[in-house]
Amino acid sequence: MTDRFAQWRAPAHWQAVDCISDLHLQAGEPATFDAWRAWLARPVGERADALLILGDLFEVWVGDDALQGEGPDAAFWRHCAEALRAHAQDTPTFFMAGNRDFLLGPAGLQACGMQALSDPTVLDFAGQRWLLSHGDELCLADTDYQRFRAQVRSAEWQQAFLAQPLAQREATARELRRQSEARKQASGGDPSLWADVDAAAARQWLQAAGAATLIHGHTHRPGGHDLGDGLRREVLSDWDLGAPTPRAQVLRISAQGLQRRPLKTA
Ligand code: MN
Repeated sequence: MTDRFAQWRAPAHWQAVDCISDLHLQAGEPATFDAWRAWLARPVGERADALLILGDLFEVWVGDDALQGEGPDAAFWRHCAEALRAHAQDTPTFFMAGNRDFLLGPAGLQACGMQALSDPTVLDFAGQRWLLSHGDELCLADTDYQRFRAQVRSAEWQQAFLAQPLAQREATARELRRQSEARKQASGGDPSLWADVDAAAARQWLQAAGAATLIHGHTHRPGGHDLGDGLRREVLSDWDLGAPTPRAQVLRISAQGLQRRPLKTA
């Protein structure tokens, strides 16, 4: 069971690590992109020693060749890659795939200056073991989604999908998002009604990983949960600067523990 969890020991000189997820960057939401790009570009002295992106950085990723396309979407993805690459020149930047951007491949990672993290990963840092995941694999109550996930994460599906022309993949992605939005609306459009991380499965993962705290995103329900026996689950915030109540938050890990830092949006 333990080989299920990638092990990662942080360099000894690191003092702080920042975690973000679920920015869902897309050309149609410039407010989130602008705030994120400004945040990435802040002076090195204000940054943590590393940035960990735990999935759904991009609203959709249909293949790394999307960076070479023509038109406004390709230009937007290139702007994202440029911002990440500039950030990564001074600050190591790590990427764990989410359910929207799991097709970001080696070429895309390189264009963004990012290093891949597998899901889940145990981070040994600041005297503790932290279990990192996007979180979608633990939303067990949504059996339709788990079936879909098993399909699209298979090498066969991915090879067949990536062999299609870019325009066809973009059309498929639009249709999948439309279906997903329709399901969300049907279930009330309220994140608190969507499937959540299964507490028993989260405890099992933590015990198998020898970690006390699971850090994950995906559910858009930021907050901390006591799982008993000293185990905890900390949920990252999604980012939406265009919402009526704009939200964006960074979770910092350091020797002092965890700190939720709201983005200064002013
Ligand atoms: Mn997600």
